[in-house]
Amino acid sequence: MRTIAHSVVTFLLSFSLPSPPLSTSPSLDLSSLGLSSVNIDSSIQAVSVHILAGTPPDPPNGNFDDEKCSPAQVTAIRNGIADARNMAAGAIELLKPKDMKKSNGFFWIFGGSTVDPAVIAKHFSFVLRLGTANEIMSTEDYKNSKTDLIFTCIPPTAPKATSVYANTQNIGRQKSVLNLIRLSPLGLANTESYTVAAARVKALGKIEAGFPNKQVGTVSGPVPPIAFTIVHEVQHAHPLMDDPGRDFLVDEKVLDAQGVLRRAYGFQQIMQLDLPKKQRNPQNFAFFAMLAASNPEIFAPNCFIGPAPLGPAPLIAGRAWVQKPLGPDTCRATVPGACAACKKIIKGIPGDVKLPNFEPDSM
Ligand SMILES: [Zn+2]
Repeated sequence: MRTIAHSVVTFLLSFSLPSPPLSTSPSLDLSSLGLSSVNIDSSIQAVSVHILAGTPPDPPNGNFDDEKCSPAQVTAIRNGIADARNMAAGAIELLKPKDMKKSNGFFWIFGGSTVDPAVIAKHFSFVLRLGTANEIMSTEDYKNSKTDLIFTCIPPTAPKATSVYANTQNIGRQKSVLNLIRLSPLGLANTESYTVAAARVKALGKIEAGFPNKQVGTVSGPVPPIAFTIVHEVQHAHPLMDDPGRDFLVDEKVLDAQGVLRRAYGFQQIMQLDLPKKQRNPQNFAFFAMLAASNPEIFAPNCFIGPAPLGPAPLIAGRAWVQKPLGPDTCRATVPGACAACKKIIKGIPGDVKLPNFEPDSM
């Protein structure tokens, strides 16, 4: 499924500068990012976004129409979508300057200067395709439509309701006939804007500060802002992509301390992924967008220390402890405070937040 032709994409997405300021309007002009070259397929239709609303049937029907959102949840999702669009637009903006990829921050999140920022920006542009959502009472009329995407609310009594934040379904996968982004009670528990979370991350200097603990039923744990979860899930949602065969991302896995492969949802885990996997893991996009708001200085152009990953020394692909953005101080960033920030993260961006599941289509 994951047939990502990176070389082709990289070729198509020549990164051009200078660029006009980015607006957050739905008719965002992405031509400045070279994105128009991958949007030439006129068969890509605008997606219609819906929220399944109403009172869940009692007893349940045993299908997705059980996942009706309350008025408060509808509001939370609407706000979350608007917030996610701003979050993605901020990330795209940060990816624009020439040589921004030559930064220790970009190295830890996406793999460094071997990665074309335009490819990363393209995945954020999918979030911008989320238009205004209307309320629907039933999924019936949207079966097998590839241009409709429905947000639903997993009821608290459903299996896994307390163990995942969200789950995305696509037509044709797992025998689904609907395109869904399903949010769990846990995934809907933190309604604050990503900007509020980012302000706390900046003030306290740790990524955990963006993920307050919430209690849902008997379960408690760190919960991202809804926008963060939406930026992640969009990377699994076919209707928002140029080409699902190429653009669909799966949650990549990394070995834990016990030698078990686990999906990389935690902050340390996403930095420990092999370099090629960093640019294919949805959670790396979500964390990047959060850090773009809280600590843009760590992604400043030429904000790097040492020859790797920029110089002739070959990168050792693999785990964090063998990745080497090390060497003498060669920081040439002109952004105030950037060089100090880059020195600080020479061994990785500090902080951790261990998050449970964001499931692509495995429920
Ligand atoms: Zn996922």
